[in-house]
Amino acid sequence: MDSSAADTQTAGNLAEPDRVRTLLAEARAAGVASLDAQLLLGALTGRDRAHLIAFDEHEVAAPTAALYRANLRRRAAGEPLGYITGVREFWSLPLSIAPGVLVPRPETELLVERCLALFDAAPRRIADLGTGSLAIAAALARERPAWTVIATDRSDRALEIAALNRQRLRLSSIQLRQGSWCEALGEETFDAILSNPPYVAPEDPALAALGFEPQEALVAADEGFADLFAIAAAARRHLREGGMLLLEHGATQAGRLAAELVRLGYARVVCHRDPAGRDRVTEAQR
Ligand code: GLN
Repeated sequence: MDSSAADTQTAGNLAEPDRVRTLLAEARAAGVASLDAQLLLGALTGRDRAHLIAFDEHEVAAPTAALYRANLRRRAAGEPLGYITGVREFWSLPLSIAPGVLVPRPETELLVERCLALFDAAPRRIADLGTGSLAIAAALARERPAWTVIATDRSDRALEIAALNRQRLRLSSIQLRQGSWCEALGEETFDAILSNPPYVAPEDPALAALGFEPQEALVAADEGFADLFAIAAAARRHLREGGMLLLEHGATQAGRLAAELVRLGYARVVCHRDPAGRDRVTEAQR
């Protein structure tokens, strides 16, 4: 027998198996946050973070460990966690996510919170423009079953993923329509129109870290104001008297946006800060 082959085989059999503990510890060297590593390993093993930490001596099968290490490398290269695991939570709803839609951000929950604060549970008509993965519309439909929620997007890919989430989350009452901003609203009017449009300026250095996500969902001309202004102008015709427009925007955009809303004839223009203390959502009344 070829002794070197026998040695290799013996060494393979006796090698320490991969354990949860050692796999999680590899995250640091890979440059991945430990929370992300726990979520990556949890997605592959079907275990939640508490289970992984409590039973960190458990062995992990070699193919699973190999996939985990490949996913650590993807994360280290800057790919959003949601694209790797295929899931991102928003408003405690597990949303399916894939390249081609913006990954929902926690700060966007403020837009949902404000809309819920403005309207009670009675039947209302609400539009979410540029819904992407359906995050905002899904949260509203879950919280307010009597509302009619219409979610629009221009992108085929976004509408596919939105439809998947509508089905998986059993939110069949949400209507999905294709079109840019108010294009898909016909002659209809609404109690509220919400949007988290692209608002990052084309020259913003922050874009360097957002290269995995669709630029059409992030970047807007005119220092990031082009889509905010286009929606504000078009939405007036689709809001009932007294209806509310709610827009997410960048931390430095509140002043110029408020001035434009007033110029367009909106009243009661108010900006709200996100949990990080940054200006994030502006609401205005028609
Ligand atoms: N808040 C996002 C970011 O800066 C931008 C989202 C958007 O443009 N709507 O990462």
